[in-house]
Amino acid sequence: MKVRFGEIPEEGLRLEIHDESWFPDHELQRTGPVRSVIVMKRNGVDRVLLQGEIKTAVTFDCDRCLENYTVELDNSFKLDLEYADSSELESGEHEISPTEMDMIYLKEPVINIFDILNQQVYLMVPEKHLCSEACKGLCSQCGANLNEVTCDCRQELKSSPFAVLKKREQGS
Ligand SMILES: [Zn+2]
Ligand SMILES: [Zn+2]
Repeated sequence: MKVRFGEIPEEGLRLEIHDESWFPDHELQRTGPVRSVIVMKRNGVDRVLLQGEIKTAVTFDCDRCLENYTVELDNSFKLDLEYADSSELESGEHEISPTEMDMIYLKEPVINIFDILNQQVYLMVPEKHLCSEACKGLCSQCGANLNEVTCDCRQELKSSPFAVLKKREQGS
């Protein structure tokens, strides 16, 4: 889905996107539909301010306990799109400074909506996958899910013959 700068009227353009073909279904496991809205406003001849919102739910395997859990994604984002002639880009006039993180330079005055949505959904996904911050994970010895059960492994470790051995070594 592409929108040319010239197609955006003075009052702006709001799109509700029902097409889900942009979603990276091969990498993210969805549990529901994706709802996305894009609002575009012209800002001069060469610039468009774009605001977007993506809502969906995705499942992950927890890094610690390996259980499946679902995360609701509901994020909005703002981008400043600028059409810059490639000769201007090469001359270094448009170097991206840290304050312009969300500035995107386009080679053509055309916005590829699906590309933007696809990039943004990856930014919404947390790097670490944890079913909860307090997830206790699996016992490294017996493999029990410590969120559900308590095993005796830790107590056994304290009174293991190795613990005694270590004490003796330190004492001598
Ligand atoms: Zn977990
Ligand atoms: Zn255990």
